Amino acid sequence: MAGITLSHISKTYRNGFQAVKDFNLEIGDHEFIVFVGPSGCGKSTMLRMIAGLEDISEGELWIGNRLMNSVDPGKRNLAMVFQNYALYPNMTVYQNLAFGLKAHKVDKTEIERRIQKASAMLEIRSLLDRKPAQLSGGQMQRVAIGSAIVRDADAYLFDEPLSNLDAKLRTQMRVDLKKIYDKLGSTVIYVTHDQVEAMTLATKIVVMRDGMVQQAGTPKQIYEKPVNRFVAGFLGLPQMNFLNAAVEMEAGLAFLNTGDFRIPLPLRFHRSLMEGLTEGTKVEIGIRPEDLMTEGEPSYAIPFDIERIENLGSHFYLHGRAGSQSTTVKLETYDSRRKGKQIKLYIDPEKMHLFDKGTGESIEEFLLG
Ligand code: ATP
Repeated sequence: MAGITLSHISKTYRNGFQAVKDFNLEIGDHEFIVFVGPSGCGKSTMLRMIAGLEDISEGELWIGNRLMNSVDPGKRNLAMVFQNYALYPNMTVYQNLAFGLKAHKVDKTEIERRIQKASAMLEIRSLLDRKPAQLSGGQMQRVAIGSAIVRDADAYLFDEPLSNLDAKLRTQMRVDLKKIYDKLGSTVIYVTHDQVEAMTLATKIVVMRDGMVQQAGTPKQIYEKPVNRFVAGFLGLPQMNFLNAAVEMEAGLAFLNTGDFRIPLPLRFHRSLMEGLTEGTKVEIGIRPEDLMTEGEPSYAIPFDIERIENLGSHFYLHGRAGSQSTTVKLETYDSRRKGKQIKLYIDPEKMHLFDKGTGESIEEFLLG
């Protein structure tokens, strides 16, 4: 299978609304690309342009060395799975799976072979004679996926395929999708607003906002090195904490002062001190709930007033205020009877993020040594 290149792609709808702006992405062979972002950010529009269901207003779509902008959807050799299954109610599962192949004039023995292979992969062999009305939601979803994977496509496009399923089935299908992807050995482009799906399925996540790519990278890169406050806040549950602070210099040392407490500026940000970060610069400290600790250097303790405790069995969420700012901390153990108390928290300097308060951009880190 060939790579897919999205080069400077934009989409302006007839009413003048620009849904996608200058989108660039190189998709390699056998990648699992996930587009994530808030509702209306242009994920489906981008996917539909790749499929050929929407015209591309500007830019180029290449599959291998073929420019695809004006190639018919049916001739792009892509298979798409929609959110609402799109099965034919009067046909059996077998006929549904065979339908697209017949349209492409695939011969009968080959159709039989592919349906047997796909139905084994999806564990729907026993359902081949049933009609869609006789299937559960999860089974219908498998058949819809089946009707795409029987096609020998260059890439498989999924638009929120699990969003109609209940939480338990969704988790099960997510695990199954990963297995199917491993067996398929093809490229997948997948749209979701579910960050767990993005983190667990993707080889590369593309975070979008207002039609623009904010960051593209592996789940680990996106989680650990978000380029801005938006990306940092979008992935991670509960969300990353953001604490307003200002840079403070004292006796040649740099601190971050929130007004209620101060912590030293970690060394890896020091070079930024020479490049724009000056005394009084307003920043936001970003720290994930799991990166707040209950032990640390006493002089940099953060007073934390607990307002609410959630016990999730395997861990606790403590919601409250770090100084005056709303904060959540995740702890493995906590004595819930200690409600209403003030405890001391410490920021893990290794895990701390720093964002420019004005632009929201991540403040550059420099490796030491
Ligand atoms: P969701 O997660 O809610 O499905 P999305 O990120 O997939 O959202 P799109 O469906 O791509 O978003 O829509 C992007 C923007 O384009 C939205 O603001 C939407 O209202 C707008 N839009 C979509 N289709 C049209 C259209 N045919 N004409 C005008 N605007 C449109």
